[in-house]
Amino acid sequence: MEIGKENKFVEFIKKYGIYVAVGVVVFAVALTFTLLATLNGSVPTGTGNLQFVMPMENASVIKDYSDTALQKNETLNQWEAHLAVDLASESSDVFAVLDGTVASVDYNYGDGYTITINHSDGFVSIYSSLQEDTAVKEGDNVVAGQKIGSASESSSNELDLGSHLHFTLMLNDDYVDPNDYLSLQAK
Ligand SMILES: [Zn+2]
Repeated sequence: MEIGKENKFVEFIKKYGIYVAVGVVVFAVALTFTLLATLNGSVPTGTGNLQFVMPMENASVIKDYSDTALQKNETLNQWEAHLAVDLASESSDVFAVLDGTVASVDYNYGDGYTITINHSDGFVSIYSSLQEDTAVKEGDNVVAGQKIGSASESSSNELDLGSHLHFTLMLNDDYVDPNDYLSLQAK
């Protein structure tokens, strides 16, 4: 009886062992990728339907995003991370990158006039160093590509860069590199 069972098991393994092995490998690989993606926090959470629009037309990146490598801030004469991209363009027009609702329009000495827009799927876009006369106010609904203001030199922390947009993108309360969502370098 016992021997018969064993033989059946051996027969089963001989016949289907390869399928079982392939199944295990596929499962292990899928699990590894899922774990790695989760650890990196790089799982795009529903960005499939979101169509990002450039915040400025034909803009040049004059200072790039860096979360670990420090960059020199000539205005403040210090080395610092730069959790945003600085953009400059011939036209100073600044546009909403996604549909959303204006969460705030405010001013502080360091960042200058700043518009914050809430979007779906946990995205928040922040536009700093704007001119005082913004084209939107708190509570306004905006669509992607809508003009919301103009770039200027209102950011006292970045006077050395001249008139520009300091563009910050956040996802689920974390800073993310705007380059991951917008083709900023491909002018
Ligand atoms: Zn900046």
